[in-house]
Amino acid sequence: MNTFSKLWGIRTPAEAKAKIAEQIADLHITEPQNLEEQALSLVGRDVYEKLIKGYTEKQWGRDCKDLPAFIIKRLPLRFTYNNNYFNDVYQGIPKGGYTQIIEKLLENVDVMTETDFFEYRREHDNFKKIVFTGMIDEYFDYRLGHLEYRTVRFETERVEDASYQGNAVVNYTAKEVPYTRIIEHKHFEPELEAEKPKDYTIISREYSTEWKPGIEPYYPVNDEKNSKLYEAYRELAEKEENVIFGGRLGQYKYYDMDKVIDAALAAARKELGK
Ligand SMILES: Cc1cc2nc3c(=O)[nH]c(=O)nc-3n(C[C@H](O)[C@H](O)[C@H](O)COP(=O)(O)OP(=O)(O)OC[C@H]3O[C@@H](n4cnc5c(N)ncnc54)[C@H](O)[C@@H]3O)c2cc1C
Repeated sequence: MNTFSKLWGIRTPAEAKAKIAEQIADLHITEPQNLEEQALSLVGRDVYEKLIKGYTEKQWGRDCKDLPAFIIKRLPLRFTYNNNYFNDVYQGIPKGGYTQIIEKLLENVDVMTETDFFEYRREHDNFKKIVFTGMIDEYFDYRLGHLEYRTVRFETERVEDASYQGNAVVNYTAKEVPYTRIIEHKHFEPELEAEKPKDYTIISREYSTEWKPGIEPYYPVNDEKNSKLYEAYRELAEKEENVIFGGRLGQYKYYDMDKVIDAALAAARKELGK
């Protein structure tokens, strides 16, 4: 509602809804042919241009007209003055950060870092069970072709001020701003704010880029071509005995933290027959 009110000088949810409905009707889009037309037919021109076009093009590195319509099925609009992006009741990170929780989970477990799975397996191939969280196409030696991925480049800066943006995450939807968001780390634990440095703060700008071999892949590109190829790899994976393919690279699926943890727990329950 803050955005709608600034855009159109309106105040109530009913006024905002009427404005959007009027813009959608003016466009006369009956069968959207691409992501741009799909988004326009769901939210009208102003919201599309302010919030969706620039951000989507930065995230995907592709013009909205060249992206398929099916990527966006619906665009949830919220008619409240709450500026939070998510509606979840609990939002944040584990107390003390992820490092601590992972260290506790891995207590008494042998861990090898800086070790490539494929290189290690060449000399040790007597595993009873493998949980594979790497790239599924690499696992099968790209025999059906390469899947595409997106990645993120981080630019971290120390700013000599108590706070830079007053919030943990601020997203930038405009095309002219090259990064998609700025993270200000100290605000992730507001309850510990008093213990954080007063004279400086650390921020990270995130730049979404195309993935190439040699850098870490982050996001699957779930368009039609890649989804089809992944489906073929999934069929191969089903025949692979004693290997569980998990996570965003193993299942070629975008997961948030809560969803990936949920999926891991479900896989563990299934494995244990519970
Ligand atoms: C920039 C960015 C911002 C994000 N922000 C949020 C957010 O705000 N909120 C949220 O909920 N989620 C966020 N996520 C998503 C979250 O990070 C993922 O959901 C989560 O990390 C997925 O867990 P995973 O186990 O599937 O994959 P990963 O965490 O990537 O784990 C896979 C592991 O497999 C290892 N691996 C891969 N290949 C090999 C190999 N060949 N040999 C050995 N090891 C290998 C990797 O090194 C990695 O440690 C974000 C993701 C990114 C990239």
